[in-house]
Amino acid sequence: MLVDNHGRTINYMRLAVTDRCNLRCFYCMPEDGLNWLSRTELMSYEEMLRASTILVKMGIEKIRITGGEPFVRKDIMKLLTSLSQLNGLKELSITTNGVLTAPYVAEMKALGIRSVNLSLDTLDANRFFAITRRDEFADVMNTLNELLKHDFEVKINAVVMDGKNTQDIVPMVELTKDLPISVRFIEEMPFNGDNDSYQGVVWDHVRILDEITSHYPQIQKLVDPPHSTAYNYQIPGHKGSVGIIAAYSRTFCGTCNRIRITPQGTLKNCLYDDGVLNIKDLMRSGVSDREIEKYLLNAFNHRPVDGREAERLRVEKTGVHESMATIGG
Ligand code: SAM
Repeated sequence: MLVDNHGRTINYMRLAVTDRCNLRCFYCMPEDGLNWLSRTELMSYEEMLRASTILVKMGIEKIRITGGEPFVRKDIMKLLTSLSQLNGLKELSITTNGVLTAPYVAEMKALGIRSVNLSLDTLDANRFFAITRRDEFADVMNTLNELLKHDFEVKINAVVMDGKNTQDIVPMVELTKDLPISVRFIEEMPFNGDNDSYQGVVWDHVRILDEITSHYPQIQKLVDPPHSTAYNYQIPGHKGSVGIIAAYSRTFCGTCNRIRITPQGTLKNCLYDDGVLNIKDLMRSGVSDREIEKYLLNAFNHRPVDGREAERLRVEKTGVHESMATIGG
């Protein structure tokens, strides 16, 4: 079992397979995109598999594939297939924007993937375009239908943005009436790839809950699973549930069990840190798995106590606000 310097178990890794994305959500990246990584800067699938094998041996039990958009990377199913066969890995899941995902749903199911997080901020095609700067709403909804048809555990992740989609909060809660899904509302974070435009969180977790409660006074709190980043609720009689993720307020760091690896192989102990080790460079320098394990253990012994500490250290060092696509959301 992996335990960090604050006594927290580490058993969950989010692996970002690309920084590229086919949407341009304004809260995530600039309209022109980012300075995309070159192919050699990216970890190869072999390197991702080797890193994952080492980490699973050390105690990682769950891997979530993310990005950028995982399905824009060529042959992503090859990576998913190899990871699904990793000895000791209990759960493989994926976070996607759903634009290209529908044709792969049956294959994912056959690999044993059970849960998919689908990012969807609005149920209105025009607002979807305004937020993502791309006209792909129909394909995303098609993916949602495919996932439900194949009995996936679906979590919809919606970032709540003042003046952009707060009118969607109630209709999205309403989706949980007949669908067995979890709709999770996320506080907007300062990761839009642009240093100046983030104005601070306007819709924090308290305000989001107030909005939902004013329409559904009968809402009930559920018991949150261990390490949950969401506060979970249910409207009595609804098949699905509602979650609120205090991603900016960072109320969940005390039980944080997760690490991240960015597309270029940087290990992050925290979403808000600056990266603590480059596992791709280590692998390319020819060191053994045993040596890599030692570096990793050392990194896990220096985790920040919470996202506030991590952010302070990063901003002191770099002054830079990243994009979620380069971090691995
Ligand atoms: N492309 C995939 C997707 O859209 O699900 C995976 C990567 S995306 C960066 C992962 C998640 O991060 C999405 O749900 C997205 O909404 C969220 N995200 C990106 N930028 C964010 C920000 N500034 N604040 C909060 N969530 C953000």
